[in-house]
Amino acid sequence: MYQTDVVIIGGGATGAGALRDVAMRGFRAVLVERGDFGTGTSGRYHGLLHSGGRYAVKDPVSARECIQENTILRRIAAASIEDTGGLFVTTPDDDPAYADRFVAACHETGIPISEISISEMLQREPLLNPAISRAFVVPDGSCEPWALIDGNVRAAREHGSDAWPYHRVTGFERGNGRISGVRVVDARTGEEKQIGCEFVINAAGAWAGQIGALSGVEIDMQAGKGSMIVMNHRVVQTVVNRCHLPGDGDILVPVGSVCIIGTTSINVPDPDQYEIGADEIDAMLREGEQLIPGFTRLRSLRAYAGVRPLYREQSASAAQGRDVTRAYAVLDHQSRDGLENMVSIVGGKLTTYRMMAEAGVDVMCRLLGVERPCRTAQEALPGSENGAYYSIQHRLAETEAHGGDESNLICECEYVRRVQVEHVARERGTHDLGDIRRELRLGMGPCQGGFCTYRAAGVLHDLQHLPPEQTNQALLGFLEERWKGVKPVLWGDDLRQMHLDEEIYLNLLGVDRLNGAGSSSDGLEQPA
Ligand SMILES: Cc1cc2nc3c(=O)[nH]c(=O)nc-3n(C[C@H](O)[C@H](O)[C@H](O)COP(=O)(O)OP(=O)(O)OC[C@H]3O[C@@H](n4cnc5c(N)ncnc54)[C@H](O)[C@@H]3O)c2cc1C
Repeated sequence: MYQTDVVIIGGGATGAGALRDVAMRGFRAVLVERGDFGTGTSGRYHGLLHSGGRYAVKDPVSARECIQENTILRRIAAASIEDTGGLFVTTPDDDPAYADRFVAACHETGIPISEISISEMLQREPLLNPAISRAFVVPDGSCEPWALIDGNVRAAREHGSDAWPYHRVTGFERGNGRISGVRVVDARTGEEKQIGCEFVINAAGAWAGQIGALSGVEIDMQAGKGSMIVMNHRVVQTVVNRCHLPGDGDILVPVGSVCIIGTTSINVPDPDQYEIGADEIDAMLREGEQLIPGFTRLRSLRAYAGVRPLYREQSASAAQGRDVTRAYAVLDHQSRDGLENMVSIVGGKLTTYRMMAEAGVDVMCRLLGVERPCRTAQEALPGSENGAYYSIQHRLAETEAHGGDESNLICECEYVRRVQVEHVARERGTHDLGDIRRELRLGMGPCQGGFCTYRAAGVLHDLQHLPPEQTNQALLGFLEERWKGVKPVLWGDDLRQMHLDEEIYLNLLGVDRLNGAGSSSDGLEQPA
């Protein structure tokens, strides 16, 4: 049996943050995640590093948390943040009286804010609606979740802890009000393993209730589905928010080479079972028109959805969806349920993951009777030491600076070269193109894998001497996963692109007749 001090469940931002925190405080820990890291909500979110502006009027606790963490993350995790800045704009459809309430609430919650003229706004963002009447600048940003999670996991490993992707928690060893071990199954081999431990941190997001049930405690989670549409190109360079109470389709976030409009908010009974409705797509595109006239005629690349991990105190009134606070809670299961050595970290935002982890680990230390201060706000994550923000030009700049070979481009849309695919495949020991996508953004641009999938599969085959069946599975799994997100927005140029991909993969390569047709190993994923 593997033995450790702490088991952390869930490889999203919160779990990865808790792993780093625990490791930096001198515990030995292992994080277990049922899929790849960042395949839960953290890999399917909107991409916005909140300034807190969105919550300033309605949820000031959340707003204060956001601005505090925004400032810290800019310092410790710069490599996963693009400093786009943010705008809140009053469109003709928004109540003009809200703007003054918004400004006052930003001042109260400590969010830096300044008003700019409409001509300055249009100079910065020429495609925005010229009928917008007011525009405010706040320190929003855009944040790449997989780089952030990877930075936390790498830091934890440097401090002697470990993280296991593709390990699903299936049960606990529990007796005398304590957990003595966690049962997991390796999703890739089917092997069952036991991890003996002193403490458990449940950071399973929208699935925290399921983990609670396995350990015998009740946690009332609400899965709040939100859908988003990935638009071709960066139609804006700044995060643009509507200046009104949070609603559907009212934020546009530039992420990497694309822009994402979102979101919706619909409660679903099961965080693993949901669909994206045509009405959600229509509503978001319609709302986009308020920000950018002609938005509905822009090319959409794909749609995806995630589930908010909304926590409701059992005693609280029946708040629903957007009315449930976006602040977080740490559940001390000792005082709450008589289970001595488990805490759950629930609710919150990706922006506040570090603070949530700190609060959870503080409670753990108290329950263990030790005093070890948190240092995660002081030290930079690996890769962020020089404080340089992510920039979309960085790959091209590196190639030019080092005289790299451009002829070996695997993915033109995201500028991914063969050496990078080889490096990630070797480092991660993976032949899952989804794992490689999350590190490199392979296949996430306009052709949605049309040209890079067969090339990347070929690279894996060469590098790892994979049997043809496994190479075929890698290729088909990736195509299927890309197809899931393209289906809801299949019209216009996207439809034309899909016809081209159909020609390449079905009519030219005959992938439907390959040996080894099957789906990718995680089968869980549908992010941007
Ligand atoms: C549509 C949408 C848009 C959002 N936009 C933003 C935004 O712009 N900015 C922002 O700050 N926040 C945003 N959020 C909120 C934010 O994404 C989440 O609060 C955050 O990502 C949650 O992270 P987490 O680590 O707690 O959960 P998750 O990332 O979901 O991690 C939990 C993990 O637990 C794993 N797990 C589940 N069951 C098991 C098991 N049995 N064994 C092992 N592992 C298991 C899951 O696979 C998952 O990876 C958004 C949320 C949604 C839904």
